[in-house]
Amino acid sequence: MVQKIALEEHVLTPGLVDYWRPTMTEVPPAFVEQLYKQLTDFDALRLDSMDKAGIAKAVLSVSGPGVQAERDAGVATRKAREANDFLAEHIARHPDRYAGFAHVAVQDARAAARELERCVRELGFKGAMINGHTNGLYLDHTSLAPFWEAAEALGALVYIHPTDPLVPAPVLDGVPALRRATWEWGFETGSHALRLVFAGLFDRYPKAKVALGHMGETLPYLLWRFDSRAKLYNVKLAKAPSQYIKDNIVVTVSGVYAREPLMCAVDALGRDRVMFAADYPFENAEEAGHFLDDVAVPEDLRADIAFNNAAKLLGM
Ligand code: MN
Repeated sequence: MVQKIALEEHVLTPGLVDYWRPTMTEVPPAFVEQLYKQLTDFDALRLDSMDKAGIAKAVLSVSGPGVQAERDAGVATRKAREANDFLAEHIARHPDRYAGFAHVAVQDARAAARELERCVRELGFKGAMINGHTNGLYLDHTSLAPFWEAAEALGALVYIHPTDPLVPAPVLDGVPALRRATWEWGFETGSHALRLVFAGLFDRYPKAKVALGHMGETLPYLLWRFDSRAKLYNVKLAKAPSQYIKDNIVVTVSGVYAREPLMCAVDALGRDRVMFAADYPFENAEEAGHFLDDVAVPEDLRADIAFNNAAKLLGM
């Protein structure tokens, strides 16, 4: 097995369980309880799964929505801080196996900037994972300037994780199998990332680093079309949209274990822009790991995707 660093590996901390359970109402109860057990375990269950998948290090993050669903900014800020402290304690018990992404409440952008700085400088976290929109607030909003200034100054990766859209798309009415991870989250999260590009966020923060899971939420496949339409609509950016996606966005393979989209992401963005993730426990970590062990790619590319790209980007 090739040694791996995994970037989208989820946990639940005590104060955030009540945001998570309502998102599981349509999942069979026995499976919810299995997920809960896996999400709240930081020892044998998780380490055994990592060993079987060849994951040397997992960068842990809170399973959505967390405080992205909290209406009270003060409560959100406090709960994010508590979650980060809890996560840091558990990372400290297995520091050779775990690292962390901060949980951040962007409801209060200045507090979010301070918390990100504390997590990176004091707790050794590698960046932040934001679970999509925060009650409809997307990360291109100008009120979030303090957060992006901090993220850029710290060199912190901001991983945008899927979430349910604020309003379910009518086109999926009556076809529940297309909701959420099948298709809905990809459109929601890819759109979120494209808002950052088209709103000029990366002109304002040229060193900002964003990560997307799920092989880039379809963006690598569509670069030509974004550039073509940006010209048609006279979009005012310093560079073509595709160039920001190549320069400022990295992607992980989470939940998409197939060669064709992997090669598309590598070809479209560059061989140093694609990284491994198992999306534990929502995907089977062994299946994810063995996909990368077995997929037909040159060995040096396999090692870069599995380990080297993340080690370099996150300083691990
Ligand atoms: Mn995930």
